[in-house]
Amino acid sequence: MPLKRDVGRMADTKSGRDKQAREEERRRIQRDISEARERGDEPEPTADPPTECHRRGCSEPVAFSVTERYQEETGAGAVEATAFLCADHAAGESPTNLYDAYEGYVFRVEPVAGGDGS
Ligand SMILES: [Zn+2]
Repeated sequence: MPLKRDVGRMADTKSGRDKQAREEERRRIQRDISEARERGDEPEPTADPPTECHRRGCSEPVAFSVTERYQEETGAGAVEATAFLCADHAAGESPTNLYDAYEGYVFRVEPVAGGDGS
């Protein structure tokens, strides 16, 4: 049992153990991250888009993101507003801030990839 001799020789102070535990934890996290990256399933650190329509009282699955970018009327700069909507509600969307339109104005409807295998 040669290992047993080493136990008493370790810097067995509390701070020594804490430091070791922290580094162990840090190594473990880095390993997890790199393994996840290798598997390619590390999610982007952005918030998940909602899965239900943004409209109150509508629980249809999200089919489109509707984005409008316009100039804030207070002069604070461009504002980009995105709503995730079901197909029916997205069809009823239209630009609502044309009075605040500027050269960078955007009204955009994009299909959202379904999370249910579609
Ligand atoms: Zn809806």
